[in-house]
Amino acid sequence: MNFAEFYQRSIDTPEQFWRDEATLIDWNIPHTQVLDYSRPPFAKWFVGGRTNLCHNAVDRWCATQGDKAALIAISTETNTEKTYSFNELQSEVERCAAIMLALGVGRGDRVLIYMPMIAEAAFAMLACARIGAIHSVVFGGFAANSLASRIDDAKPALIVSADAGSRNGKAIPYKHLLDAAIELSNAKPAKVLLVDRGLAPMALVAGRDVDYATLRAVHLDARVPVTWLESNEASYILYTSGTTGKPKGVQRDVGGYAVALASSMKYNFCAKAGETFFATSDIGWVVGHSYIVYGPLIAGMASIMYEGLPVCPDAGIWWSIVEKYKVTRMFSAPTAIRVLRKQPPEFMRKYDLSSLRALYLAGEPLDETTSQWIAGELGVPIIDNYWQTETGWPILSIAKGVEDRPTRLGSPGVAMYGYKVKLLNESTGEECGANEKGVLVIDGPLPPGCMQTVYGDDRRFVDTYWSTFAGRQVYSTFDWGVRDADGYYFILGRTDDVINVAGHRLGTREIEESISSHANVSEVAVVGVEDKLKGQVAIAFAIVKHAEQIATAEGRQALEREIMGVVDRQLGAVARPARVYFVPQLPKTRSGKLLRRSIQAICEGRNPGDLTAIEDPASLQQIKSALQV
Ligand code: AMP
Repeated sequence: MNFAEFYQRSIDTPEQFWRDEATLIDWNIPHTQVLDYSRPPFAKWFVGGRTNLCHNAVDRWCATQGDKAALIAISTETNTEKTYSFNELQSEVERCAAIMLALGVGRGDRVLIYMPMIAEAAFAMLACARIGAIHSVVFGGFAANSLASRIDDAKPALIVSADAGSRNGKAIPYKHLLDAAIELSNAKPAKVLLVDRGLAPMALVAGRDVDYATLRAVHLDARVPVTWLESNEASYILYTSGTTGKPKGVQRDVGGYAVALASSMKYNFCAKAGETFFATSDIGWVVGHSYIVYGPLIAGMASIMYEGLPVCPDAGIWWSIVEKYKVTRMFSAPTAIRVLRKQPPEFMRKYDLSSLRALYLAGEPLDETTSQWIAGELGVPIIDNYWQTETGWPILSIAKGVEDRPTRLGSPGVAMYGYKVKLLNESTGEECGANEKGVLVIDGPLPPGCMQTVYGDDRRFVDTYWSTFAGRQVYSTFDWGVRDADGYYFILGRTDDVINVAGHRLGTREIEESISSHANVSEVAVVGVEDKLKGQVAIAFAIVKHAEQIATAEGRQALEREIMGVVDRQLGAVARPARVYFVPQLPKTRSGKLLRRSIQAICEGRNPGDLTAIEDPASLQQIKSALQV
């Protein structure tokens, strides 16, 4: 097939295109209308159709390949490894669904899942999908305040959690963070379901906390029929960072998402039922939702869920998994590959990787050195793909399942089917020509699988994403991009205050708010600064209230550690700034707006740019001096 024609068909006749794609999944009742775009920018896909994500991911395959592997849970932290066939996965999901029903969870209720990378996390997600509850998975690396804001927004009827995660052989207790978060929040969940892994002691709150294993035993033989949902009912909420300190709940539907995943598994990931997929992400991120849990299972593939570091017990661990489970398609992030590149290559060369057909990388820019190195080591195509929590599946890539077009170094590829991608000039809003830098936008309607709205806040959806250009309703990705004459895009960084640390998306505002809560901080600016390993790291510049504390080097170090501790406790170590510098003032415009881009430029040794609006040019020199100290 020719990709250009395939793409054009998706743009010219989207309803025909997606009607065909909808046949990739099972429907209980077919849709009556492919697309309802009567209220832009809200798109409704497969209106009137009834389906279920859990049915398509699990039950559907029980009929034809029930004994084949579905979920392979591997933990090098606890040295456990267990394969669940589709039949076994179905039983576990039904048990979990029965527990949820018994705890009073109903259709449309929210269930917050705060879990390490263990099989029960996937059971809980699929159980929600089965009974029509809306899951909100919160990354296990987030701490109490991050968790509390998500509890307040989603108001979950139930929270599913565990005693602890584990990192590098050390238990990371979850329960006290969870208790602290519930304490901080206004919306208290009625029940908390806890998986006890025996890693950390847990004090159960009477009447609220219940034990997973005990209830699982009660519901061992439970049969819970699938609840057929209208295609546009919500399947999940996944919070992500933006310009403001308050994370946005990206809400997704049921039918559109299932179809988008089924087609992306086919065209982007060349899925074959019965083969094995290995995405090294975490269920707390969108890659974990789309390509650890739902995508591979919807395609009838076995999916590997891995808890552990890429270098423990040694740097060969992922490759030993590829060999053992004959992984055909692997999905990771550039940072992980950069980590592996620092290790002796023998670890990789020890294993038989002949099953592997391609490695997909996403989440952050893929640099040429990393791409070329891993391509050389593996001898398979390295396929960059660019997308966001908001879209749920790739916006830019090379769809090898449609046509084996060449990839281009430094570019994630071309616009994917269904996405009307454009680059607009930031000031004029005019479309950019080849090799002209602009804001990467998508014309509505967004294709199936993309966010429906911001949970509970339609206004915010429109104001945040669709209002960047006056008089023109387009979806903004908040990324800068450029396109070459052949239609290949290159991503040049964010237009907003979002930073990307090792593929993790963080809002600088959130980090600033957390740092500001330290008693001796009066003002702070956080910027993302280029880092060889992690892509970017957060660097903070703070103004203190009482200067005595920073009069000595020891005092400065102590305060820096205290501030990092505040961020660790409130948001989690993922958000911890790599450095905190102290300055007498921050560069601002005369109207008081922080000049973050200038601060960032100075940190990266670049020209700070247009400074005509700066209040006090000395502030930039102070940033430079702070960096030198
Ligand atoms: P998230 O929503 O956490 O997946 O983060 C999405 C953001 O990560 C995008 O808006 C980009 O800034 C960045 N990103 C994701 N994938 C890529 C990629 N393949 N190349 C460059 N940047 C990427």
